[in-house]
Amino acid sequence: MIYPNLCACCSTGLLQGERFVCGHCLYELPETGFEKEFGNPVEQMFWGRVKIEHATANYFFKKGNRIQTLMHLLKYGGQKEIGEYLGQEMGKRLRLSAFAAVDLVVPVPLHPSKFKKRGYNQSEWIARGVCAQLGKPLNASTLVRRISSGSQTRKSHYERWENVESGFGLIHPKHFSGKYILLIDDVVTTGATFESCIRTVQHAEDVKVSLAALTMATV
Ligand SMILES: [Zn+2]
Repeated sequence: MIYPNLCACCSTGLLQGERFVCGHCLYELPETGFEKEFGNPVEQMFWGRVKIEHATANYFFKKGNRIQTLMHLLKYGGQKEIGEYLGQEMGKRLRLSAFAAVDLVVPVPLHPSKFKKRGYNQSEWIARGVCAQLGKPLNASTLVRRISSGSQTRKSHYERWENVESGFGLIHPKHFSGKYILLIDDVVTTGATFESCIRTVQHAEDVKVSLAALTMATV
């Protein structure tokens, strides 16, 4: 971090025990409360598309609000620890909801070209924070994104592919069999990425899926 002692949102000095944002800005982050609302707008996105147990997003993403500042630092400022911090905030709410019943926490894999550029998957850092609060393991190795479409040697490593266009696939689907999986991403907008992931994950036997995005952007 470049300015370790200042609030990332309002630049006031942080007090002891505060990380990244001051208490006031943390309180002002626009929480949705969707994790306890059956049929919330995120769940509605998936109606008639793909079967899920529950869906939520923890914050409303709006241009100019504090969460935009934090997301920008997370994705483009190299501050991956903000993801873990906000993941913990989301995890505190999920822990007190139906989401607490999941077995595994799985981040949506980043496209390999973006991973190469960024050096980390922001959704994996969010998932780490969620895991810490839920006390559930992280699995970032079974659901993967294809490196390149033409590589036969790569392909041979994967037992099974689903969505060829999206490039999501499962390595060892058995790791998901019989499990209740919580998919994590930084943002949900139309639900298309989650939908591709879920269709892929559902190739594992007897699997249940819920999803939680840190933020929901309105289109
Ligand atoms: Zn602040």
